[in-house]
Amino acid sequence: MIKIPKFISLANLPTKIEKLKASQLPEGIKLYIKRDDQTGMEVSGNKIRKLEFVVQDAIDKGCDTLITCGGLQSNHARATAAVAAKLGLRSVLVLRGNGSEEPEGNYFLGLLLGAEVRLISTEDYKNRRGEIMEEIKNELSAKGLKPYIIPEGASDGIGAFGYFKAMEEIIQQEEELNIHFDAIVVTVGSGGTYSGLLIANKLLKHDCEIYGINICDNADYFKNRIYSNIQESLRHLDTDAGFSLEDINIIDGYGGEGYGISRSEELEFIAAFAKEEGIILDPVYTGKAMYGLMAELKAGRLQHKNILFIHTGGLYGLFPKAELFSGLKK
Ligand SMILES: *Cc1c(COP(=O)(O)O)cnc(C)c1O
Repeated sequence: MIKIPKFISLANLPTKIEKLKASQLPEGIKLYIKRDDQTGMEVSGNKIRKLEFVVQDAIDKGCDTLITCGGLQSNHARATAAVAAKLGLRSVLVLRGNGSEEPEGNYFLGLLLGAEVRLISTEDYKNRRGEIMEEIKNELSAKGLKPYIIPEGASDGIGAFGYFKAMEEIIQQEEELNIHFDAIVVTVGSGGTYSGLLIANKLLKHDCEIYGINICDNADYFKNRIYSNIQESLRHLDTDAGFSLEDINIIDGYGGEGYGISRSEELEFIAAFAKEEGIILDPVYTGKAMYGLMAELKAGRLQHKNILFIHTGGLYGLFPKAELFSGLKK
């Protein structure tokens, strides 16, 4: 038994695993989906699994304020605001925006949940978000508060254990369902989810292939980022499992026009998928990744029988993009 760090129970678990119709797929491939979009309502999505570990650490350190960052429609920032409200903590969200945006989707929910929002430019977000969060931390400390900085996506060494624990859950469900998943596929946005799954796959000897489909940057960037994330996580364990860059399997090429920008084929895919499966994917993460997974499978590039895709959430990010689907109105 591997002893992972302490966590606070915040998510609605276990999440269901469902079989998809996936009528477009070649014979012999079964595709399943794990509904981590249903980890809660205010906290829905993958970030809450990571926050279970990160927020425990904040509490253990006696902190009373959570500072984090993300895009204007960050699912992670919204989940952090919800957790803070629930636990009676303050939250400060450093979001990428210029102030002209309507409060909608996740941004609106964060405000509704009582978060203090500080908007910063795209440039500052890219180059100085860490520094800016440190400045806010100092400012709040001077007022007698005890702030805790959660990095983008809660993707640090501790946060990754959320998906170590998710892998334990999957192994349990495999027994109940009498299926062995030979591949698990997940969207990669900051890499924390992927890191946790990969560590667990190796240490728990689950022996399946873990694929990440990146929706921004490129495979090299994420291999390195995930690799260093894994090293950071391993410091919390008393095992010295060896990981190498080759263990990290990133399928590149489905980021499209870039972070948060949708192409018409992706939107059409999301609409077709919703109609066929009764499941809503999001435009920023899971819509692109599932589009990519289907393309890979149709092209015969992934040789697996039972594939599990993890639906990491993102529904609220769809609403601000509703007008892009105007072609649907008929
Ligand atoms: C953040 C996010 C991801 C990416 O997860 P990472 O751990 O950051 O790689 C995927 N899907 C959704 C909906 C997200 O909000």
